[in-house]
Amino acid sequence: MSVGTSTPAPLALFPPGSALDYDGALTIGGCRAEDLAERFGTPAMIVDETALRTRARRYVRGLAERWPDSRVVFASKAFPCTAIERILVEEGLGIDVAGGGELAVALRAGADPERLVVHGNAKTDEDLREAVGAGAGLVVIDNDDDIDRLERLTTGEQGVLVRVTPGIRPDTHEAVSTGQRGSKFGFDPERAREAIARLRGSDRLRLDGVHVHVGSQILDTEPFARAVEAVADLGTFAVYDLGGGLGARYTYDDHPPSVEEYLDALVGAARARLPADARIIIEPGRSLVAEAGATLYRVVTVKRGEPATVAVDGGMGDNMEVALYGQRFEAVVAARVGGGDPCHLVGRHCESGDRLSSGVPLADPRPGDVVAVPATGAYCYSLANNYNGARRPPVVLCRDGRAREVVRRETYADLTRRDVDGETVLVGPGQ
Ligand SMILES: *Cc1c(COP(=O)(O)O)cnc(C)c1O
Repeated sequence: MSVGTSTPAPLALFPPGSALDYDGALTIGGCRAEDLAERFGTPAMIVDETALRTRARRYVRGLAERWPDSRVVFASKAFPCTAIERILVEEGLGIDVAGGGELAVALRAGADPERLVVHGNAKTDEDLREAVGAGAGLVVIDNDDDIDRLERLTTGEQGVLVRVTPGIRPDTHEAVSTGQRGSKFGFDPERAREAIARLRGSDRLRLDGVHVHVGSQILDTEPFARAVEAVADLGTFAVYDLGGGLGARYTYDDHPPSVEEYLDALVGAARARLPADARIIIEPGRSLVAEAGATLYRVVTVKRGEPATVAVDGGMGDNMEVALYGQRFEAVVAARVGGGDPCHLVGRHCESGDRLSSGVPLADPRPGDVVAVPATGAYCYSLANNYNGARRPPVVLCRDGRAREVVRRETYADLTRRDVDGETVLVGPGQ
């Protein structure tokens, strides 16, 4: 391994600013990964605050420089954690929520209600009542029942967008493709026109514009430009919400467009097709938070073999991306970054599918070593679970060599906290 002569490839996947210490050990946000593991235990979700803020600024400034009236809204499902949302709110972002739960977190994080965008393909009365009650700026109409419900529940005037499903199938995993024909989300263009006509006649719902979101982990810019064309065809509006979906870099082989390349493509299409005085909203999730996060584990056991199987103290309890979407992750031994032989990096859960990475090079892994997996800032916190009694990990913010825990690790007591000694009640058909 070379220290100080060349940068090992793995560092490129960790948050910008990550480095090697004098002895070749990994640092994130100026903190040694091994010290973070010692202090906060493992598994632990580490977020580099500077990297997160920088990424947010690239989005906010990048869009503002390219289009006069713009807003960036964080798709909070990617990392619905109060402290993370608070940082993004400080950076000027709005928050995109699906349902009352994400709404509650966004409000707790100090989001300006006027900058909330409320989504969901199955919003309940409760979801909508809470959104209206909070003064959410925009509710995205996904179906005709949304219109019926909102007409009934709205007290004053409610701004709405109509979500269109343009028939675009980006090259991404089926589970995270949303814009294709037959998608469960939104209206096809013909039905969108009907919904638009209906809303234009509503005196309680104010139709501000249209919305499109074609999928997630999209690694080229072309589907985004096509999505702009699809909403442009629906007519002239004050607001065009163009969704999220830009891919993040997870592996050495991934080369997603940069934020700037993405914005160039999107705004290029907008200049050609949308009214110049309209407001553009974008809703990045994954590409905003993925690279700012990394997960630290401790190696529990190493089974020698070809390749060796390295088992750590986490897995599908804290990272469902592998099992759900087949996402590939890379990893390093925090004390010895770079080099090594391919290993299978597996979790502690009782499933063979609980594998964090196949054939990932690790330098002489031994029990007790800290292993760091980069690019876990998106959808790992939100999809974490208690499988096999796993206690969901803490979230630790790092910046300039200082670390601050903002979510604690669950305790065993948390695992039984919802147990109740319920009263037995009669729910049968009666006599
Ligand atoms: C999930 C989602 C996003 C964010 O998608 P990413 O791929 O995480 O950027 C944006 N808008 C809507 C409506 C979504 O459902």
